[in-house]
Amino acid sequence: MTIRQLPDTLINQIAAGEVVERPASVVKELVENALDAGATRVDIDLEEGGVRLIRIRDNGGGITPDELPLAVSRHATSKIASLDDLEGVATLGFRGEALPSIASVSRFSLSSRRADAGHGSVLEVDGGRVGEITPKPHPQGTTVEVRDLFFNVPARRKFLRAERTELGHIEEWLRQLALARPDVELRVTHNGKPSRRWKGEGDLLSGTRLHEALGEEFARNALRVDHAAAGLRLHGWIAQPAYNRASTDQQYLFVNGRAVRDRSVAHAVRQAYSDVLFHGRHPAYVLFLELDPRRVDVNVHPAKHEVRFRDARLIHDFVYRTLHEALADTRAGIQTGTGM
Ligand code: ADP
Ligand code: MG
Repeated sequence: MTIRQLPDTLINQIAAGEVVERPASVVKELVENALDAGATRVDIDLEEGGVRLIRIRDNGGGITPDELPLAVSRHATSKIASLDDLEGVATLGFRGEALPSIASVSRFSLSSRRADAGHGSVLEVDGGRVGEITPKPHPQGTTVEVRDLFFNVPARRKFLRAERTELGHIEEWLRQLALARPDVELRVTHNGKPSRRWKGEGDLLSGTRLHEALGEEFARNALRVDHAAAGLRLHGWIAQPAYNRASTDQQYLFVNGRAVRDRSVAHAVRQAYSDVLFHGRHPAYVLFLELDPRRVDVNVHPAKHEVRFRDARLIHDFVYRTLHEALADTRAGIQTGTGM
């Protein structure tokens, strides 16, 4: 047996196995980068469910030409520099893994211009092989193009589903994003045709995104929740029990702006509804939990779908009590207004 150091491209392809499951994961990582860069508008162009092409353009801060190669290098990030930073992470990204991983399993290009730069630049990476930096006109911000996802990883390509299915996954992810960041304008095209446009709005409370994302039925039945205690704030909307679902498809939880799944919080919500919902039916909600980033560990899962709370019990009880209280009128059989 011989032990050998693996080449960088292979290391990135292995990491891609965790981070890049399908086109929707690419869209997620790239849009999160755009948001971390301060973008107020993100254009998303897709072809063939994102398998043929994913192009994400933002109007964020941009990248200097000499930093383009770093952006596609493993473990290179502008977002944290120390363990202390890691423990209080406030950005969506911090692992410095997404771009090198994606670039190792696609035909990839990164174009960018900072506001203070005279011209833009582009760097192409083909299946992990990094090319030269060349000048290219580009408005302020960044464009990432990902073509032919998994073209060099047949085992992965095989698991891609029909165009509709992949597009559905992307749309579901974008719906979460639209809820988390109503201030950001999102424009989506698919196969050259406009498929979705989310106009930027001040917040979810005043805007129409909630209706668009979850439907009129939900909006009509939504109870507004906003409660703070012990350094925790829980706000958003929960549906009155009369509006319930056969599955957990309309359960959205954001922790410090990040869409996550959390069994403990889901359990707390279920408990709050336990005496007002029929068995086998599920509540619908859009909830934002905010707390000091030091009280939540986001470095649990490569794709960051999960977090770990330092005081999970406290949070569970806080969520339970807040929602139980919000549902009190329902429990008394009084039909309140929608609170919208
Ligand atoms: P991470 O987001 O964890 O830092 P990524 O691999 O996703 O790692 O990105 C690497 C780095 O490239 C980021 O830290 C950031 O500095 C830069 N970058 C990536 N995308 C953008 C973007 N859209 N705008 C500006 N900078 C970006
Ligand atoms: Mg990132």
